[in-house]
Amino acid sequence: MNKIFIIILGWQISTLALAQAKSPTIKVRISDKNSVVEISGVDLEKKIHITQKAISYPGHKKIRFNCKSNKNLRNQRPIKIASFNSPAQTLNFGKDKFKGLIHIQTSENYNGCDVINETALDDYLSTLLAKEMESSWPIEALKAQAVAARSYALYKIKSNQVSKNKGFNTNYDLENSEYHQVNGTFFDATTETNTAANSTAGEVLANSSGQLVPVFFHSKCGGKTRLPEQVWSNSVEGYQTVNCPFCHEHGKKNWTIKLPKRKLISTLGKLAGVNANRTDIRVLDDHLKSSQVKMYVNDNLTVIKKSKLRSLLGRKYLPSNYFIMAKSKDSYTVIGSGYGHGVGMCQFGAKELALQGYSYKQILAHYFPQLKIKKVY
Ligand SMILES: [Zn+2]
Repeated sequence: MNKIFIIILGWQISTLALAQAKSPTIKVRISDKNSVVEISGVDLEKKIHITQKAISYPGHKKIRFNCKSNKNLRNQRPIKIASFNSPAQTLNFGKDKFKGLIHIQTSENYNGCDVINETALDDYLSTLLAKEMESSWPIEALKAQAVAARSYALYKIKSNQVSKNKGFNTNYDLENSEYHQVNGTFFDATTETNTAANSTAGEVLANSSGQLVPVFFHSKCGGKTRLPEQVWSNSVEGYQTVNCPFCHEHGKKNWTIKLPKRKLISTLGKLAGVNANRTDIRVLDDHLKSSQVKMYVNDNLTVIKKSKLRSLLGRKYLPSNYFIMAKSKDSYTVIGSGYGHGVGMCQFGAKELALQGYSYKQILAHYFPQLKIKKVY
């Protein structure tokens, strides 16, 4: 009996180890351009990369790095300084706690230090769910968000996209920012977010050839989702726009914003190289469904993507890409709905679908009808 028990236990341990080994890790830049970095924890292990020296600190220890910017070293690529581990505990960076490892390196252009957290992908997703959604949202919405965010993160990891775009090895896969996706810290993860991340472990969205694609999501589409090429420059295989009559009851309501004439003229004037004092802009008939605005800048017909206008004017004037623009006396009136870029999964729409009883697979199938769930670990 004992022998059988040991064999079964041994098998369980080996499958557990195998499952853990297959789960990828992600390196997230959690902070950049710091002049001082403080790392603390229990039984810290520190490795200094330049000297390859490893030091252990029994008990509690706080370590402080001064990272003054150095103008003479501008244009240098990031240089790894130190890595930290606390084998049994979490690590503290300032007041925040993180699982996994923390790495410190010089920032791009040597403007202080960057801090990178290297952690299990599913632990990262669990903290992210609490920030991208709220942990009190229905579990099926959280699971849909977990699959979408895992797909986005794995695409970035496998394609090494951040380093490729920068033209040098950044030593991280993603930034913790609205530019990429927003993750939290150890304290943000809850039982619900852990369940959503773990119960969908390894599941991503893939295109018809089984390839990973960048899976996007946003706060509130306002009625219809957009295609990547309507908002950015590149098209992505497997996207289609879908109607979303689900998000309008949630989040902030529709918005009307007065855009001062001078603001639009000075913004577009820079593009067209025209004199702001002598410029007149006439907006042609605009439609909510159109992803472009047509206007005459003086006598020149100009067609500009709504997303381009949003990036030039900022989110304060244009909270989403779903708007119509019309001229009033000394200003332009912008009427719109939604928040965010509008591509891919609408988070408030996913919440409403989950409240109506949809499963996470049905929610994802609604926003990504051409993509299929695939288990990759
Ligand atoms: Zn929506």
